[in-house]
Amino acid sequence: MDASRAEGATPAMAQWFRAKADYPDALIFFRMGDFYELFFDDAEAAAAALDIALTARGTHQGEPVRMCGVPVSQRDLYLGRLIRRGFRVAVAEQLETPEAAKARGGKTPIERAVTRLITPGTITEEALLEAGSSNILLALAADGDRLGAAWLDVSTAMFETAIIPTGALAALLGRLDPAEIIASGVSTLGAYADRRAEAETPPPEAARRYLVRVFNVTSLDAFGAFTDAEASAAAAALRYVERSQAGALPRLAHPVRTADHGLLAMDAATRASLDLLRARDGSEAGSLFGAIKRTVSPAGARMLAGWVASPLDAIDALRARQAGWQSLIAAPDALRSVRAGLRGAPDLARALARLSLAARNAGRLAPRDLGQVRDALASAATVRRALTPLMGSDSVQPLAADIAALDPSAALAALLQSALVETPPSRLGEGSSIRPGFDGELDAERRLRDETRQVIAGLQTELASRYGVASLKVRHHNQLGYVLEAPSSAIDALRDFPELILRQGLASAARFSHPELSDLDRRIAEAHDRAAAREALVLDHLLRQVVRHEDRIGACAEALARLDALQSAASLAEIGRWCAPCLTEGTDFVIDAGRHPVVEAALPPGQSYIANDADLSSERRLMLLTGPNMAGKSTFLRQNALMIVLAQAGLPVPADAARIGLVDRLFSRVGAADDLAAGRSTFMVEMIETAAILHQAGPRSFVIIDEIGRGTGTRDGLAIAQAVLEALHGMIRSRAIFATHFHDLVQLDAALPRLRPCTMRVKEWRGEVVFLHEVIEGAAERSWGVHVAKLAGVPENIVRRADSLLRAAERTQSPAASLPLFAGMEDAPALADPAEAPEWRAALAGIDPDRLSPREALDLIYAWRRKF
Ligand code: ADP
Repeated sequence: MDASRAEGATPAMAQWFRAKADYPDALIFFRMGDFYELFFDDAEAAAAALDIALTARGTHQGEPVRMCGVPVSQRDLYLGRLIRRGFRVAVAEQLETPEAAKARGGKTPIERAVTRLITPGTITEEALLEAGSSNILLALAADGDRLGAAWLDVSTAMFETAIIPTGALAALLGRLDPAEIIASGVSTLGAYADRRAEAETPPPEAARRYLVRVFNVTSLDAFGAFTDAEASAAAAALRYVERSQAGALPRLAHPVRTADHGLLAMDAATRASLDLLRARDGSEAGSLFGAIKRTVSPAGARMLAGWVASPLDAIDALRARQAGWQSLIAAPDALRSVRAGLRGAPDLARALARLSLAARNAGRLAPRDLGQVRDALASAATVRRALTPLMGSDSVQPLAADIAALDPSAALAALLQSALVETPPSRLGEGSSIRPGFDGELDAERRLRDETRQVIAGLQTELASRYGVASLKVRHHNQLGYVLEAPSSAIDALRDFPELILRQGLASAARFSHPELSDLDRRIAEAHDRAAAREALVLDHLLRQVVRHEDRIGACAEALARLDALQSAASLAEIGRWCAPCLTEGTDFVIDAGRHPVVEAALPPGQSYIANDADLSSERRLMLLTGPNMAGKSTFLRQNALMIVLAQAGLPVPADAARIGLVDRLFSRVGAADDLAAGRSTFMVEMIETAAILHQAGPRSFVIIDEIGRGTGTRDGLAIAQAVLEALHGMIRSRAIFATHFHDLVQLDAALPRLRPCTMRVKEWRGEVVFLHEVIEGAAERSWGVHVAKLAGVPENIVRRADSLLRAAERTQSPAASLPLFAGMEDAPALADPAEAPEWRAALAGIDPDRLSPREALDLIYAWRRKF
């Protein structure tokens, strides 16, 4: 900010200008007593975003000072709204009490400083975080045609890095869904552009020095061979966090390099088309995650969401997850106890993150967080007790490491149990946090405080009789402290006593101060202060104990989350309609009676989902699926892709049995959203996505494609579809399901031995089409488009007209007899509108369609067909 803007400011406003200069991209929440005030442009922006009143107070440089304010007690509510709207907020707190400022004398205002910068990617406040999802800050550093990426979640201490080709950024963004992105020097963030944070990425040398210092190691190599770009990105992310916590760093795991291999690769378009964590409308309910989630704790939900968002291509890790939930199914009693133990357990990772910040003097200690650690440790102990008896059996061996992590420190758990009251307050001083009997000194101070209160109550009777005013009362007054209150009629009688000083005369009553009361008042205040100070000391001791064990507690939090994710998987598979897929390193793909979990869940009551097999074994790895619209093609395509996501998340799949060779890359082009906003036509988007598949898919990949070529003319579309199909069959050799409305493609099966034509079964019943949603071998007889138009409510006469046009066209166009397909089509004469022919017109004029029975109509059609 231009320094001259601050000229002539009052001392407090000068503090505001300094804060604004330090945090120009943030709104300043400027603490003034019981309010956070916002000024100038900040005030205008916040008032509009929060829908609160904008006022003005005083002038600065001749202009009224625009301002608005929010009560301190509502801080998190308003902060939450601002952060969700994409604002960053710097909170400038008062660092001393008004009394202390006064005692310093002079005209200096209360000291204030920014203690916290809150940005979307650096939230730790419980009220601002979404319980079930991660909150990720991502930093990127460009290095030629590669990008170093580092991402962390301050609220759970996770910290990872990767080096990726620039082209893979969209996929990474889709996988992590970061809340905030530091990307200096990286121009294209696509749909994530509005999450960009203003921060610089340090050069590699400086970055390494910084990381080495922060993690207190001699060389970064201790954690892995980080590339320069990864180091720069990691340092950029950490520095940003440090700045947001006003110079302190929370506990973070040391950065872990994640290589892209080991993960199932999915690009952004595939992710978007599969609705993994959120449905298209943004809801969780219509997503895969929504359909499979049986977790009972927020941390478990986050872990499960992570599994679904980042499926693996690593058979051992997947088998370990499978073994984990299968061992729980094998012990149903233990499973129930584990679930009960986890249910309602506080969010240990996030409470720990806040405590670790408080211990590093960033953020205030919330006694409630200590209570949460206590309660979570108690839950961990319950879960551990439920599983320990099984430890002898082989079946729970997969859980052994997690079970061991559930007991970070028995002594700490006992300490917190004996120290803390049932529900400690969220702020220091908002009530007591420490149990009576835990600390002798604290008890003594409290006793003094409480006894003094009793003495005051006793004093009322004594003073009433001493001064002969029976109705004399001891009252507590906010400004005056303890006073004697007498009816105004007694004023004259009391004036004679020099120790009574009239402080306030009201119409009906008068208030006097009294030296004994003042003395007690002071003693109470002192005892209160001493009790509060002692309590703070005890809490600080507890905090140190927690932080001393923070790594073990962090591991315990992770074990609890994993056990919850595993019990969620067990709950799904327990009832028998979901199974553990047999995972192989080959290219198998055989599904018995598979279902689409989201479509199944959304079916109206009474309607049951039609399960379908799929067999893409290598001699038949390319499935060509035809069938009318609405018959269930895209549902079938997606259900098989989801089967892979679930299998490679280590989770059960919705099928009777499944055998799946691990997939390295999954491609889904089904009902892809048109990217018209980006100025591309539907066809262009379709071809860009198809190009991506053709470049990247290989023999271990899995591809589902719906209706390729629909965005262009029939001839081009058919040609492209055929070429892509041939490439998938011969060159790329992926397992693939290819749905199309180009029925002529079915004839390719003669030339392509691994291609299997399949179709959706359709039945015609009393003139209506019935979709059976069943996949069978063979080709569709017709496309039934006209029937679908009728189903959709297109007016009768128009449907009939379309029908007759269709029949005419079917008669005119001779089906291509053999490959190559296009020869016949090139020569096909452009269709004349049959209704233009005078004979047609005459014939048609002679009938009244509304009086025809279907049978008569059909007879007419046959007759005309012979005739014309
Ligand atoms: P298409 O892609 O062939 O146009 P969809 O896959 O969109 O058809 O399916 C249309 C509707 O049919 C779905 O919304 C769903 O309600 C229903 N459906 C699809 N497959 C099944 C199935 N296997 N069992 C029951 N209903 C299904």
